[in-house]
Amino acid sequence: MDKEEKLRRHRIACKKHYWKPKVRAKKKIYKKKYDLENKEKISKYGYKKRARPEYQVRVKKWREEHKKHLKEYNKNWRKNNKERKKKMDRDYFLNNREKVNKTSEIWRNNHKGKVKKYNQKYYTSPKGIISYTHHNHKRIATIKERPCDLSNDKVKKILERDKVCVYCGSSKRLELDHIVPLKLGGNSLYNNFVVACKRCNTTKSGKDVFEWCNLKGIEVPKIVLELKKKL
Ligand SMILES: [Zn+2]
Repeated sequence: MDKEEKLRRHRIACKKHYWKPKVRAKKKIYKKKYDLENKEKISKYGYKKRARPEYQVRVKKWREEHKKHLKEYNKNWRKNNKERKKKMDRDYFLNNREKVNKTSEIWRNNHKGKVKKYNQKYYTSPKGIISYTHHNHKRIATIKERPCDLSNDKVKKILERDKVCVYCGSSKRLELDHIVPLKLGGNSLYNNFVVACKRCNTTKSGKDVFEWCNLKGIEVPKIVLELKKKL
């Protein structure tokens, strides 16, 4: 038997030995222990390996060839790790605020049509209406220097309480109406709001509720009377 044949047989024997379940289990345990004890060494080695230019070229080539697979894989990962992704994004934003703001501004400028479409969709959805109403009233209250305690939850509560315009019963283009208008010294606190349609809100505008209802020839709604007692 020559040297090469001997070596070949030795290799096969080794392979056979290490593929035995008992030996494999033992090796697995040993590897786990070694990995735990030499974390730094391994990560340093891995970092060195990944930093080599030929390695990066290989990775790039692999990525090009498996674009479809990667897309699917990443999509699935994001779907299954929603909370983790959210936290990662949040952390990244907090650490790179300026950079993110700059890139998003450039993106918005290059995709004006898309942004417009998205805004239209968002601000006509229930969530968007609530958010828009909250911020708008807060902004007006700040300008007029009035107290404001609105939040998204409170706007939602008011909309769910009244459901339709309290003056005419319409369900089109609903807004929040100040019972005591800002013009007459009203504030933007929770109890000063009822739901009104755009038409009623604009015609009522800065007028007193009783006066306006009288003018329009309708009864003052119960909810308005109730809330007015609390003011
Ligand atoms: Zn109305």
